[in-house]
Amino acid sequence: MKKTLITGAAGFLGSHLCDRFIAEGHHVIGMDNLITGDLKNIEHLFPLERFEFYHHDVTKFVHVPGKMDYILHFASPASPIDYLKIPIDTLKVGSLGTLNLLGLAKDHGARILVASTSEVYGDPLVHPQNEDYYGNVSPIGPRGVYDEAKRFLESITMAYHRHHGLDTRIVRIFNTYGSRMRLNDGRVVPAFIGQALRGQDLTVFGDGSQTRSFTYIDDQIEGIYRLLMSDYVEPVNIGNPEETTILEFAEEIIKLTGTDQKIVFKPLPQDDPLQRQPDISRAKEILDWEPKVERAEGLKKAYNYFKSLSPEQLWEAHRDFSNNK
Ligand code: UDP
Repeated sequence: MKKTLITGAAGFLGSHLCDRFIAEGHHVIGMDNLITGDLKNIEHLFPLERFEFYHHDVTKFVHVPGKMDYILHFASPASPIDYLKIPIDTLKVGSLGTLNLLGLAKDHGARILVASTSEVYGDPLVHPQNEDYYGNVSPIGPRGVYDEAKRFLESITMAYHRHHGLDTRIVRIFNTYGSRMRLNDGRVVPAFIGQALRGQDLTVFGDGSQTRSFTYIDDQIEGIYRLLMSDYVEPVNIGNPEETTILEFAEEIIKLTGTDQKIVFKPLPQDDPLQRQPDISRAKEILDWEPKVERAEGLKKAYNYFKSLSPEQLWEAHRDFSNNK
């Protein structure tokens, strides 16, 4: 039986990855320090013999006994609200955490896939973004802690590959949405759906002309799985090329939820990229992957998930990270 370590297991992507690798018949070790993750996302896996959970911070030395086949490094705060609140942790998990996991992979002779991000392209001057674009990132801006940590993650991963012959994969993840996103993480999908469900106006930042492209979680997980099982070492974009402006997106959410709330405009956060759209030619060619779920269908599923949450969860105040350390 294959044994697979997934860091960030209690998070949005990590928990869906745990489900997928359990379904593929692996023995899965989930690891998380629960700083932004939530055990609720994986509690259904606890009764399974093939699932173990380690409450551990990957920026500290990581030890896992026995053999290991695969490591997926998905531990990181991943929304602007989170990395503005916990910038140092964000830098540490992308740098020290990645270093520890690469070392672990080397010890075990395991294949490792690390989660990078479209943020490595910063506020892109090239559109759409293919993997050969080097990006336009401010190292000292508020997003720098995330963007530069992920750029370092890519850099050290390639160094381990070239210098130690480690079997590595790098996925560049574009905006992804679905169940188990935190309602209060500030990302636009839970923000808008949460506002609609609470009867609040939808807050569009700037004039809403900035663009994003949204990938449904099932498509994202499929892309990551295919990349891990491929033999391709260079970074691969996994995202949906269908682009929308944030204003159009807000209108779409109003229609979907049937809310009679209005759209209100707030200042655009600093360094908020004006446009973002993946070029997925590489994923198509190498992984034979492209997104399958239409936005209307994916958003409906996400809406049904958020609608099923309790009123307390819906109104839950922002998590106080200082109490969680
Ligand atoms: N956004 C918005 N209102 C919100 C939350 C986000 O208009 O309540 C905008 C945000 O400024 C950005 C886009 O939606 O332009 C996507 O934001 P998100 O945080 O989801 O992802 P990222 O900026 O990292 O792509």
